Amino acid sequence: MAIVMRRILVTNDDGVHAPGLAALAEALRSLGEVIVVAPHHEASAVGHALTLARPLRLEELRPNVYSVDGTPTDCVNIAVTHVLSAPPDLVVSGINTGWNIGDDITYSGTVSGALEGALLGIPSIAVSTERKRRSERVVEYDFPPAALAARVVAQAVLQRGLPRSTFLNVNVPFGPNKGLRVTVQGKRNHITEVGERHDPRGRRYFWIEEGQNDWEPHDRSDYQAVRDGFVSVTPLQPDLTAHDVLAYVDGLIIGTAEPIR
Ligand code: MN
Repeated sequence: MAIVMRRILVTNDDGVHAPGLAALAEALRSLGEVIVVAPHHEASAVGHALTLARPLRLEELRPNVYSVDGTPTDCVNIAVTHVLSAPPDLVVSGINTGWNIGDDITYSGTVSGALEGALLGIPSIAVSTERKRRSERVVEYDFPPAALAARVVAQAVLQRGLPRSTFLNVNVPFGPNKGLRVTVQGKRNHITEVGERHDPRGRRYFWIEEGQNDWEPHDRSDYQAVRDGFVSVTPLQPDLTAHDVLAYVDGLIIGTAEPIR
C-alpha cells in the first residue's frame, strides 16, 4: 500500500524568523511534509489584509522555507498557487506570541492565515500562546506545550477533517495545562486607550495602547478556558452573517422591497 505523504502549509504573522514558527514547523514534521511560507517582516494585527497595490516577492530561504514581503493572507495565496502545485492537506498559522482570543481575533494576522485557508477550502488551524510579562522589558513564551497542542489538534484534523468553511483557533497557556477545552469566542467590552504624545519636534502623535481587559463572564469562553489553565479550541467560520438577526432586519426594512433610486 502506498503511503501518501500529507502536505502541511505553515505560516504566521510574527515573521519567517520568529521562534514560534520554527517550533510549530518542527512539531508538525512527524505528521507530514511541512512547507513554510511566512511574511518576511512581522505582520501582527494586519487582520485579513491582502496586498494589491505593489509587487510581492517570494524568496526561498532554504528547502521548504519561503518568505513573502506581505501579509499572512498573501502568503497563503502565493503558497497554494506558486509554491505548492495544489492545495495542501492542512494550513497551520502560528505559533503567535500572545493570545488571540475574544474580540482580538478580528485584528489577528495569525487567525487570518487560517481564515484564508478555510476560504480556499483547506482544513486550517491558528495557534497562539500566552505572553508572560516578567518585567517592564522582559516577556517570555513557552513554545513546547503550544507546539505539542498544535500537533495533537493537527493530527485529529488530518485524520477526521473539519466541516466545510470552518477552522480552529487554538490558544495555549504558558506552562503545564489541563488539556483541551472546546470554547466559544469571548466578548471583551472594549476600553480603547490611545495615548497622545509629542515627538522631539513638538508634533503630536498617537499610540494605540493595549488597554484594560474587561471580559464579559461566560463559562465556555476562550478567555475563561485559558484562565482556567486549559488549551482553548474555538471553531470559527468566515461567514460573518448575524443569523439570529435576520428576522429583525427583515422587520426593520419592511415595505422597502422595491427598487431604490
Ligand atoms: Mn503576531
